[in-house]
Amino acid sequence: MFQTLTERLSTTLKRVTGKSKLTEDNIRGTLKEVRIALIEADVALSVVKTFINEVRKRAIGSEVKRSLNPGQMFVKIVNDELVNMMGEYNETLNLNTQPPAIILMAGLQGVGKTTTVAKLGLFLKENHKKSVMVVSTDVYRPAAIKQLEMLTNETPLHFFPSSSDQKPVDIASDAIHYAKINHYDTVIIDTAGRLHVDEAMMDEIKVIHKTVNPAETLFIVDAMTGQDAANTAKAFNDALPLTGVILTKADGDARGGAALSVRKITGKPIKFIGVGEKTDALEAFHPERMASRILGMGDILSLIEVAEKAFDKKKTDHLIKKFKKGKSFNFDDFRSQIQQMKKMGNMGNLLDKLPGVGSFGQMAKAAQQHMSDSLFDQMEAIINSMTPKERQEPDVISSSRKRRIAAGSGTQVQDVGRLLKQLKQMSKVMKKVNSKGPMKFMQGFQGMKNMMNGNGNMSAMSSSDKKKKMLS
Ligand code: GDP
Ligand code: MG
Repeated sequence: MFQTLTERLSTTLKRVTGKSKLTEDNIRGTLKEVRIALIEADVALSVVKTFINEVRKRAIGSEVKRSLNPGQMFVKIVNDELVNMMGEYNETLNLNTQPPAIILMAGLQGVGKTTTVAKLGLFLKENHKKSVMVVSTDVYRPAAIKQLEMLTNETPLHFFPSSSDQKPVDIASDAIHYAKINHYDTVIIDTAGRLHVDEAMMDEIKVIHKTVNPAETLFIVDAMTGQDAANTAKAFNDALPLTGVILTKADGDARGGAALSVRKITGKPIKFIGVGEKTDALEAFHPERMASRILGMGDILSLIEVAEKAFDKKKTDHLIKKFKKGKSFNFDDFRSQIQQMKKMGNMGNLLDKLPGVGSFGQMAKAAQQHMSDSLFDQMEAIINSMTPKERQEPDVISSSRKRRIAAGSGTQVQDVGRLLKQLKQMSKVMKKVNSKGPMKFMQGFQGMKNMMNGNGNMSAMSSSDKKKKMLS
């Protein structure tokens, strides 16, 4: 769900991260992208407008917090506004009434009402220890009543039978009467839907509503319907005093506009989301979690920070320039590569989740899988024990210097010798880096990794690593 929106926002938001201050000017382009992202996500236009205005207002007037750079601040504002738009916190069902508490389901045909009746019944049974009775008033399709019966077949829910020659409002009354006598805590009433909002349907459900006086009147809406969801929501909200919304098929939607629009347009909270066809696929709706999902993942602020640090473009560009001039790869370069790879390795999993850096993340993960941190640490320690001259011109490293470096870094002379060899091999790999830019550079990385791993080449490992490998 929400993939498109996520991807767009993440590219967009990266653009403001370098800015020193949020101004009308430098956020204009980004706001435009956010607007397109929301429209593409099928958010209702009126909602998009309100959202953009609100973000603009808050961004320009905002004191940038010390701990955040302006880009991060902007992300935070977008995040807060998303949460705000979706209702701040989860609202549960309010069933505090003289039992049985009635729940009336409303919505178009095919959105998932019948399925959700069973899901909700089970939810109340399992989480709130309620005894639940369900009944269908969908007399237009005989199969609809049967469908509910089948769904509740192997559940602890009580199915109250009805038939297609009865009047919907009579079925509802009978069911409630039966539930009262038999002391059911809750009755969930399924209703018939239509393909489009029509008067006959609205009239029928209005009559049922008046007759049963429900504690909860829930509007069921298909998350995949985006913009349409907003229009239907408005129609139902005008006809019935809705108390909440259930957003179904949240597992399959790639746009996510419905979640953003429905709350804003109806003013009614989304209480649950349906996340699958099975009867246990129902989750409480949490606006702040949904906002995080829309923006990419949990802690987007810290992620942006790590990503910026790890991919040090300046250093990379510097190296590429240097190679283009025909200079060779020395230990200063080597160390900076090791440091970058270490950072990337640690971040592999995190980066993976940040949209737009997928391949980068994968590479980082590969780096982590292939190379142990301790090996990196050892290499770095050896380089740190060299003099600046030795780093810049490795050819000066004689046997006596090797001994000194080994002693200084707590390694063996062979370890130092091996690192020197690796530097030579890496020089060759890195020389392949040419004007084709960072992609080629990344391939250089790959070559470096392969070479160090030596495809199982044990000589490239310290003796303790060898032992570890043998034991594993
Ligand atoms: P109704 O006409 O509103 O009663 O809709 P149904 O309950 O008959 O559901 C229509 C279709 O949507 C069925 O195939 C359900 O299995 C499917 N469905 C319902 N809720 C969900 C959901 O949350 N996720 C997915 N993937 N499918 C759902
Ligand atoms: Mg149905």
